[in-house]
Amino acid sequence: MGTPAPVGKLDTLVSLCKRRGFIFQSSEIYGGINGFWDYGPLGCELKSNIRQSWWQSMVRLREDVVGLDATIIMHPAAWKASGHLDTFSDPMCTCKSCKKLMRADQTWEMLADNELGASLTELHANGQPDSGRVEGWCNGRGKGLAPGLAAVRNPDAVLAAVGTRLAGTAFRNFVSLLASENPAALVQPCPHCGGELTEPRPFNLMFKTIVGPVEDPANVAYLRPETAQSIFAQFLNVITTSRQSVPFGIAQVGKSFRNEVTPRNFTFRSREFEQMELEFFIRPDEAIELICGRVATLADNPDLSAPQENWGWQVWHKYWVEQRLAWYRRIGLPDASLVQYWQEPKELAHYARACVDIQYAFPFGVQELEGIAARSDFDLTQHQKHSGKTMEVFDEPLKLAAAKLDEAARAAFADKVAAEWAGRGKSADDARAFVAKLFEGRYIPHVIEPSAGVDRLALALLCNAYAEEPVTDDKGKTETRVVLRFSPRIAPVKVAVFPLMKNKPELYAKAREIFGQLQRRWNCFWDESGAIGRRYRRMDEAGTPFCVTIDFQTLEDGTVTLRDRDTMKQERLSVAALKEKLDDSLI
Ligand code: ATP
Repeated sequence: MGTPAPVGKLDTLVSLCKRRGFIFQSSEIYGGINGFWDYGPLGCELKSNIRQSWWQSMVRLREDVVGLDATIIMHPAAWKASGHLDTFSDPMCTCKSCKKLMRADQTWEMLADNELGASLTELHANGQPDSGRVEGWCNGRGKGLAPGLAAVRNPDAVLAAVGTRLAGTAFRNFVSLLASENPAALVQPCPHCGGELTEPRPFNLMFKTIVGPVEDPANVAYLRPETAQSIFAQFLNVITTSRQSVPFGIAQVGKSFRNEVTPRNFTFRSREFEQMELEFFIRPDEAIELICGRVATLADNPDLSAPQENWGWQVWHKYWVEQRLAWYRRIGLPDASLVQYWQEPKELAHYARACVDIQYAFPFGVQELEGIAARSDFDLTQHQKHSGKTMEVFDEPLKLAAAKLDEAARAAFADKVAAEWAGRGKSADDARAFVAKLFEGRYIPHVIEPSAGVDRLALALLCNAYAEEPVTDDKGKTETRVVLRFSPRIAPVKVAVFPLMKNKPELYAKAREIFGQLQRRWNCFWDESGAIGRRYRRMDEAGTPFCVTIDFQTLEDGTVTLRDRDTMKQERLSVAALKEKLDDSLI
């Protein structure tokens, strides 16, 4: 599962995206700005289709999820409560030679991607480096590629110190040996120049801004680094106004900002991007036990097709993983390109019970598209603590269930919960206070969070859709056809309409009439210039699934020619049949 496409494919895709108006560098006329991207005419349609499809599946087609559209700038206290002010950071280091800043945990990855890395890999020769070639490299090519590398600055001393240790060692050790005057100290060099790096230090990823005219520390605010926190902050307003009760979810699509130390891999790691997040609030397992008598877990092998009242957090989490995978399939990402990465317990945040990354095999490696986390009651509890407003809900069925227990059963239940919590390192007093609230029908909901990125998904869909194939025309000439095989559901343009000729008024008018009808339902493109074959090629590159040509026969019998992007087959059909066919494949 999930074998990455060749890396060269990314460069080809980047140039197609620019050429066809999917993605441009932001402020390109001023030289661009690193980590910011603009979406052109086709790109913004693609993103809009992604958003709409997500909204349709997560909100409109469900009765237990409602939407929210909150501000990008929130009260700064929200970021203290969420932990972002204190802990939302990446380890950053600086090269002492070239002064570049970079993420300390990505230097090997960056080296693997650049010319210096390629040259060192060649020199390493799978662990059998030739000492003469290494010396020659340090005195020659290395001076241009890695002027900061210890073995380039001081070849005699460094090569004498490492002696025969360069042979038979792994690539990273080999590079480390060349990077330091002291062979005992294994170091990672700067991937740009080979120089020495400073110790990593945490760098907070939130963009700061000032609210109002006075540049005072009291007026500092932050651009949100995720959309989730505003959902938690508006939890009470939504639950009191939407007639929802737990379990239910709040969904939001919107911009987020992270001052990434090293934005890279095209749009994959940007500084401004869009997220699609759902916070799905569930009862704590202890409440389910009181109501249903028993909590269903994955060990029960539950049927995940329809939510059940007795589902515990584990089943809800798995349910959302399956829902999300089904959606990715529906919009055209094949199972074989997706990987589920279940984080190990030691990788989980202290409050998280499970987290799955849905990853896609990008040309630069298998990387995260979406994270689905079981976050316990951490977020709402934090906002309750910091805002002083209760985030508890009242659950009538819970209160009724608890009322049926006698004193002895209540005490036994409290003892059991206290013992379970102690097993998870939590205080018995807290457990008893929590149980006392449960008996009143009150608790802070737990949450399952599927959190996806629009931009990463757009990139994955572009990578997945891109294909080149040889085609032979009527005259026997073979050429390469570039085609974006998007699922019709997310394709930016659904139908292109061509009049066979533009200088025949009757035919032209008929074509405009049909175009006008189709345009009311789908995003259509009008193209009247060039040979039909060339018009098809242009639409193939834009990923348009259907092309309709209006010719003289249309004037006689009302039929048009429909050409399918993938099979390149053509069929004649009436306009009514065309609309039906489009409905079938696009909805
Ligand atoms: P990564 O580990 O790749 O930095 P993350 O785990 O920090 O990602 P989350 O905080 O879980 O990401 O954010 C949810 C989703 O938002 C990600 O799965 C991704 O699709 C998107 N996302 C996060 N950071 C970026 C970014 N810098 N550029 C584009 N999309 C992003």
